[in-house]
Amino acid sequence: MSHGARQARRILIIEDATPVAFLIQDLLARRGYIVELAEDGETGLEKSLQEKPDLVLLDLMLPGMHGMEVLRRLKSNPVTRNAGVVMCTARTYKPDHDQALELGAFDVLHKPFEKEALFEVVDRFFDKVPRAPVSQTPVFEEPLSDAPVRTDRWFFRCWGTRGSIPVSGAEYARHGGNTSCLEIGREEELLIVDAGSGLRGLGLKLAKGGPRKLHLLITHTHWDHIQGFPFFEPAYLPGFELVIYGAAGFGADLKSAFTGQLNRDYFPVQFEDMRARIEFRHLDQQTLELEGIRVSWEYTHHPSATVGFKFEMDGKSLAYVSDNEFLHGYQGSPHDISESSDHVVLHRRLLNLLRGVDVLIGESQYTEEEYRRKVGWGHSSVSNACVLARLAEIRSWVVTHHDPSHVDEFLDRKLNRTKDLLRELQVGIPVVHAYDSLMDYI
Ligand SMILES: [Zn+2]
Ligand SMILES: [Zn+2]
Repeated sequence: MSHGARQARRILIIEDATPVAFLIQDLLARRGYIVELAEDGETGLEKSLQEKPDLVLLDLMLPGMHGMEVLRRLKSNPVTRNAGVVMCTARTYKPDHDQALELGAFDVLHKPFEKEALFEVVDRFFDKVPRAPVSQTPVFEEPLSDAPVRTDRWFFRCWGTRGSIPVSGAEYARHGGNTSCLEIGREEELLIVDAGSGLRGLGLKLAKGGPRKLHLLITHTHWDHIQGFPFFEPAYLPGFELVIYGAAGFGADLKSAFTGQLNRDYFPVQFEDMRARIEFRHLDQQTLELEGIRVSWEYTHHPSATVGFKFEMDGKSLAYVSDNEFLHGYQGSPHDISESSDHVVLHRRLLNLLRGVDVLIGESQYTEEEYRRKVGWGHSSVSNACVLARLAEIRSWVVTHHDPSHVDEFLDRKLNRTKDLLRELQVGIPVVHAYDSLMDYI
């Protein structure tokens, strides 16, 4: 996906040499960025908290507080630590350079610099880091890059992060509009979770290279979790082997739900035309071992037999709960819910599954106000989802399954609300919104 409209990007310049600051501000503003200025470290830190810039251009030699100290404080405050920082300095000492990077700076720019050098580093930042990462070591790749991912570290990549129906348009550009699909992998290992419209992009990549034995795990067979299957290129290619796993207990069995989409009334090509070896398996055991990953699951609270998954590999864990109405109907204060509350009883098994996971990719679809009108629709309010994060003691949260009516700006406000609530609940974990093509290590 594109990285969205430039005008949404905020840059803060912390620089005491005012004419230089004005010049940089002018250059960047002409390229569509919203640019703020601060003359010293204290003011810079205050403005960072208020304005939440995506990128900070930070002068090393500031009056009062040293630039290195400003950097350290930016990176240790949960509100500002995801902002990128480019350290600007007239000094070319290697220890300065190394320390800035160690403290989390994105890069160091040596003064005086040409405007091309400034644009290069700013563009590189926004191209590489479209949104705040979960961990300190983010890697982002374009969704349709030709090269298969080669890494010896486990990663996840979101291919579709929308619930209900795909959406498109400029107002969705930053989060993307494809429905649920997640890739989990390392080198040759690969698991796919859900087959929403995001599956198409992943299929195009896999058709060009990478593993040929594919495991596709399905949380449930609502449209937004299976509609990408007819457009999954590897299914049509001989040489691919595809095993599709889903819980038993649907109205139609797993195979019928999938192949029904290829009925002549709905689609020009039929299941019989698919040339890959395709097998359907019900999740009859509570845990299974796939590609060195231990997969376990529990039912979530959602219409139809819907499951949430946990994946454990090399001492790390990631859980995926796309559709779950936690604390069904509860609209009271999140402070009033404890592990022993009646509302929690229904969810105990799921909470146990999620207990202490390193990453939860999980839903929080409605604002509290929306939830008032949507009790029983199968999705959580922001505040109930925050309670889940607290009770399950998860270690980081990537919010997914965005409502199709929620445009980027609305989602930004919703994420801020989530952060405020977590802070009130004293849950000190990183939380970001998933978007199509988000990739991070587990
Ligand atoms: Zn869904
Ligand atoms: Zn659903």
